Amino acid sequence: MSDQNISRSPEFLQERISYLEESNLRFISIFEMLASSSEYQGDLSRAKDEEAIYRATICQLRRLFPFQSIGFLSCESDGSFELLAADPAIAQDTLQSLIDTRMMDGTFAWALNRNQAVLVPTETGETLILQVVATQSRVRGMFVATLPGNSAALDAPSLNALTIVLHTCAYALESTVLYGMLHDHTQHLEERVQLRTRDLEEARLQAEAASLAKSDFLANMSHEIRTPMNGVIGMTELMLQGGLTPQKEKQYLNAIKDSADSLMLIINDILDFSKIEAGKFTLENKPFCPRDAVKRCLGILSVRAEEKGLQMFHQVDSAVPACLVGDQGRLRQVLTNLVGNAIKFCQHGNISVEVGLKSNNADKVVLHIRVNDTGIGIPEEACQRIFNQFEQADSSTTRKFGGTGLGLAICKKLVELMDGEIWVESQVGTGSCFHFTSQFLLGDEKLLIDEEAITDSSSARQTPLTILLAEDVEINRTLVQAILEPHGHVVICAENGRKALEAYTSRAFDVVLMDIQMPEMDGLQASRAIREFEREYGREVPAPILAMTAFAGNEDRQVCIDAGMNDYLTKPIKPLQLVQLLNKYCAGPTGSAVELTGGGLATAAAANELNGAIAVFDQDDLLERLGGRPEMIPRFVGLFCKGVLPQLEGLVTALAAEDADGVRRHAHAIKGAAANISALRIQQLAATMETTAKEGDLTEVPQRLAMLHQEYRTFTETISALGIAV
Ligand code: ADP
Repeated sequence: MSDQNISRSPEFLQERISYLEESNLRFISIFEMLASSSEYQGDLSRAKDEEAIYRATICQLRRLFPFQSIGFLSCESDGSFELLAADPAIAQDTLQSLIDTRMMDGTFAWALNRNQAVLVPTETGETLILQVVATQSRVRGMFVATLPGNSAALDAPSLNALTIVLHTCAYALESTVLYGMLHDHTQHLEERVQLRTRDLEEARLQAEAASLAKSDFLANMSHEIRTPMNGVIGMTELMLQGGLTPQKEKQYLNAIKDSADSLMLIINDILDFSKIEAGKFTLENKPFCPRDAVKRCLGILSVRAEEKGLQMFHQVDSAVPACLVGDQGRLRQVLTNLVGNAIKFCQHGNISVEVGLKSNNADKVVLHIRVNDTGIGIPEEACQRIFNQFEQADSSTTRKFGGTGLGLAICKKLVELMDGEIWVESQVGTGSCFHFTSQFLLGDEKLLIDEEAITDSSSARQTPLTILLAEDVEINRTLVQAILEPHGHVVICAENGRKALEAYTSRAFDVVLMDIQMPEMDGLQASRAIREFEREYGREVPAPILAMTAFAGNEDRQVCIDAGMNDYLTKPIKPLQLVQLLNKYCAGPTGSAVELTGGGLATAAAANELNGAIAVFDQDDLLERLGGRPEMIPRFVGLFCKGVLPQLEGLVTALAAEDADGVRRHAHAIKGAAANISALRIQQLAATMETTAKEGDLTEVPQRLAMLHQEYRTFTETISALGIAV
């Protein structure tokens, strides 16, 4: 400052002093504001929402300027601005109208784009301050305030201080928004974690239940397998010790066979189940007669039912077509399972099977089959569960009745494959009714006749054959030899595919029986090599190759055919099926044929013809009812013989006591047992005796009783002449 200035008038100096004093005051308020900034920061950090931040900021700004009114507009997501905080509250409308005016004249928009305060005089002589509240990245709102008088009071340091406060405010707002987002996100995350934890917990419980069911299943399965295995091992050891009478040996062998049969059932169940699970199960599509299928299936089961003293009926609705196309084997499997269970869980009463027609539209036929029993019943809570794998109504069932809990699960899957459903209605203590539906195509009856013709032709007589048997397991070789050699066939054995190929190229064979899984060269490779050899060396008539496999699906059959084989047999080999298949592929001239006799395979015709019009024993009829399983004949004939002797003794006693009702009862029992086993002459004699005894007439009974004893002797002789060992 120059001397000249200092020497200016006292007024000038006075004005200068006032200015300096004012500046001083403003600096003091700036310092005060700065001094209280930690308080402001504290308020901001406690602020939970936008409004709290605005309130804290208003408080801080009031330390800086003597504002008349202050407000904040918040920037909404759609870009509009809303006046949120006005201080004092009564200034709200005034501020709003000031803002509206500035919005209209563009000042508001101008202020938005500047980083410092815009000062505008109002009509009422005050100063309106507009300053954007923004962080580097976003506009958060607009600060608006009025100061008395003109804007002269606002110097640069104060405006800078205002900018600093509004900056702080903007970042606090942004933090709150971010915090809100973070909070929402965390909450959402927590909800998801909770949800996921719940899912995991459910999955854990399910896995635990499944593992428990599997452990139960394994325990059941081990028990189910161990029981027959113990039988096989125990009986075999006894036989190996030797010194047994032929009857004892036979009894032990029968026990071993029974055990092996039940093992086979379990293994088949497991195989079926795993095939279905792996989606490798395909259904056959062949014409069949539903009436026959049901009759045959129930034939074999009726013997078991009768052994337990249960009555069994079946009825097929007349509307059910004579011929359907589908997989009758699987239909019979489901039915066998359900009726088998009905017999298993029924101590007395009866079992009935009804086959009805649910619908018949556009060649699609849906059958509805009901299996009713008067057994132990199933608790309501278990009615759904028992169709799950490894599930039983209650675990004590296994201990009492045995079983793996797989049967119904397999039934369910099979029924679903046949586009049907399965369910049960049951009452504990009263009985159960299992229902299932399955869909087939409508078939042409003529196709059935053709099938029968094929079956008939398979029983033609046959010349002795030279058979090449490729099989690595000795016991299986022995079994096939034991079946075929009694019929005059020559069986040459090879232990693997390579040896079979060597044998085939060195001499002629009529037919090859080929195991599939063998060491060195398997059955498929050997068959391909045989066909290759035939092509190369021009064998005139290629020998039929028949596969013997434990895998029984359609696709397995196709693999065999693709390798050049003609047909296949499923293991375990059943004598009748083997002979029928040989007949089918190697039917020779009938003249010099060797008749299929012995080994339980002979037809009973010859023995029966000796005895006039009615057969002593109709083996074919029995075989049909046993589902074509000749190996079961000795057992059932044995059961018959065991049961009929006490009844004959009972007849003698009743006759001696002239007890007509006793005679009737015993005659009735003999009639039923004889009908079961197809001992037709005994059946007829007993029936006549029953009828006369019912009328109280015992005059003819002594002669008939003598005849009955005679017929029984003839029956046992016929049986042993047929080579059936009981
Ligand atoms: P299992 O081999 O145990 O018999 P299933 O799957 O065939 O297996 O049957 C499952 C369970 O369903 C049985 O253990 C039994 O508790 C119940 N069950 C099935 N059929 C009947 C029935 N006819 N009467 C009573 N309970 C039955």
